[in-house]
Amino acid sequence: MRQFESKQKRVMQDTLLNLHKRFVKETGIKVSYPMFCKLRPFWIIQRRCDDRNTYLCVTHSNFDFILESLYNAKIISTSNYVDFLNQTCCYRFNEQCLSRKCKMCLNKSLHYKEFDDSIPLTYSKWESVRQDIIDPKTKKTRTVTKCVKSILQIKPRDLIMDLESKMQKFFHHELNKVHQYNAMQTKQQCLTEYEAIIHVDFSENYQTKYAEEIQSFHFGGS
Ligand SMILES: [Zn+2]
Ligand SMILES: [Zn+2]
Repeated sequence: MRQFESKQKRVMQDTLLNLHKRFVKETGIKVSYPMFCKLRPFWIIQRRCDDRNTYLCVTHSNFDFILESLYNAKIISTSNYVDFLNQTCCYRFNEQCLSRKCKMCLNKSLHYKEFDDSIPLTYSKWESVRQDIIDPKTKKTRTVTKCVKSILQIKPRDLIMDLESKMQKFFHHELNKVHQYNAMQTKQQCLTEYEAIIHVDFSENYQTKYAEEIQSFHFGGS
């Protein structure tokens, strides 16, 4: 006879990558990352909107690049946006925390360690650049917008200022992501048999290509 095991679903509060690092550090048990993922109990699930295997959008990516650079220079202790949110919010999926209305975490921010501002840091950045290309079909010159990854150098203080200036926008961006996910979950749970959900995801990566089209969709081409 087969035995069934019933378990309460548990949603992971962090990425597998971060949990693996913490597991090795806290238990002293040396286990590889692939093995750690393989051994994950089936009832421990990852939030779907948080799948780090999928590509991050430009906003998330660029925010991560800045954190990574400051982390490598040992100025901050967070190397990615998940750690950043864990450090600045009570609960990173809470919309109150993300909208900075929660009194408990409103004033939480990053701690910057002392640094030498004369040593420049290197960081990556996705940038959209306009390029003139010769259209292979029409043989005419055409301007296209491309997203390219640039490697830049900057003084630590300026990078910190840049990060600080992007924080508010980042919280808002993350709030939108979490809110959409939560709204979708709620809707999904009370869907009647006459309703269907169609999820169309416009990734920001495609924005440059579709920007004009989207506008004309909205305004009926006028
Ligand atoms: Zn994003
Ligand atoms: Zn909070």
